[in-house]
Amino acid sequence: MKDKVFSNIVKRLAEVKKLENLTVKEIRLLSTPKRIAYTKLKIGKKTYPAWRILFSDALGPGKGGIRFHPGVCQDEVKSLSFWMTLKNSLAGLPYGGAKGGVQFDPRQASDKELQQVSRKFIDAFYKYLGQDKDIPAPDVYTNSQIMAWMLDEYEKKVGYHQPGMITGKPLDLQGCVLRGDATAKGAFIITKAMLKKFKLNKKKLKVAVQGFGNAGLFMSQMLAKDGFRVVAVSDSKGGIYSKTGLNIKKVIAIKKKQGSVTKHKQGQVVTNAQLLELPVDILVLAALENQVTKDNAKDVKAKYIVEVANGPTTYDADQILFKKGTMVVPDILANSGGVTVSYFEWAQNRTGNILDKDYLAKLLETKMLSSWNKMMTVYREHDKKIDLRASAYIIAIRRILSAERLRGNL
Ligand code: NAD
Repeated sequence: MKDKVFSNIVKRLAEVKKLENLTVKEIRLLSTPKRIAYTKLKIGKKTYPAWRILFSDALGPGKGGIRFHPGVCQDEVKSLSFWMTLKNSLAGLPYGGAKGGVQFDPRQASDKELQQVSRKFIDAFYKYLGQDKDIPAPDVYTNSQIMAWMLDEYEKKVGYHQPGMITGKPLDLQGCVLRGDATAKGAFIITKAMLKKFKLNKKKLKVAVQGFGNAGLFMSQMLAKDGFRVVAVSDSKGGIYSKTGLNIKKVIAIKKKQGSVTKHKQGQVVTNAQLLELPVDILVLAALENQVTKDNAKDVKAKYIVEVANGPTTYDADQILFKKGTMVVPDILANSGGVTVSYFEWAQNRTGNILDKDYLAKLLETKMLSSWNKMMTVYREHDKKIDLRASAYIIAIRRILSAERLRGNL
């Protein structure tokens, strides 16, 4: 299934080509990664395939997370680095796009092994990384501790301090006060903008959230705290559903104590596939790519989908959802709060400034809403005949191609 991720992107680009009258050369530039670095990390008797892919540096140094997951493959990392390129462009950040991955299951690993893999990754790729080259951050199954090990390994290699080479660091290693839940914060701001735009009353809405990690857990927490009825959540082991709404505080406590939301006593246990088809108004996708596909899109009841995960909806599913009138708020907008706060962290590391939390929170909101408004403007300009993803892609692609043109690459 994973091998098909990039083919979805190719189909999307063909559509934008028509809408924007792009040339074959422009499409080639947009769909070809600048550098694919691949190696096998050797730890004792085990080896783990690892990638760092710089998709584009037209707008600035590469920027994008590192994923540790047993299903990581080149097609996935390439797709994720493409989406980072568009996301950073749409957000107006001074970055190109990149992503890294190690085919490895950290859930089965000891802390010692986790640290070895993290350091080996830097050992393999440090020449390509740096605050002006390519700047990693956390993604699925990586966290601030892993960023700390990676920073430490990098600084040992180069022989000087450079906290801006990586973001999502712990606060004591020059992390940003807002980074922990920034992705969810950004998605929450966008969800509220969506409610306002479509005149929806949160008290009447039922929400299901797929994925209960950094993105999904904080998003569920923010929604519940704000008065939304979160009726279902899930993690890799399955989900839990209660028509009347879940007590998210309790679900978080159970997840922390027993490792899965499915251990929660309230409601009924559902599979991840069932969660996608529950009778809800908003479906928040915060796990992995290729979740809503041509096989289940017709059964999705939610009228609104917020993509906090990267690439959770396939191209074919998008077509079905658009015909049904389902609004899909695309990943490159909905989850851009994480990289936006990473940018604040990087900027602080470079200037030595430490900025106030409230000031940064306001700045995040302004930036998220500015991207939302830009996307809605293009959507309106096309008389709502294209979906929100195409609208967001158009804005992102215009900026990337402008940079390529100015550099003389077109
Ligand atoms: P995480 O490692 O913190 O959590 C992943 C969660 O997904 C876990 O709860 C896990 O149990 C669950 N999960 C794994 N496989 C699943 C499956 N098949 N079905 C349902 N749940 C499953 O990762 P995260 O940082 O929350 O990332 C989630 C998504 O959000 C990814 O697509 C990631 O690329 C995207 N994202 C994350 C950030 C960030 O800052 N962390 C930023 C932008 C986008």
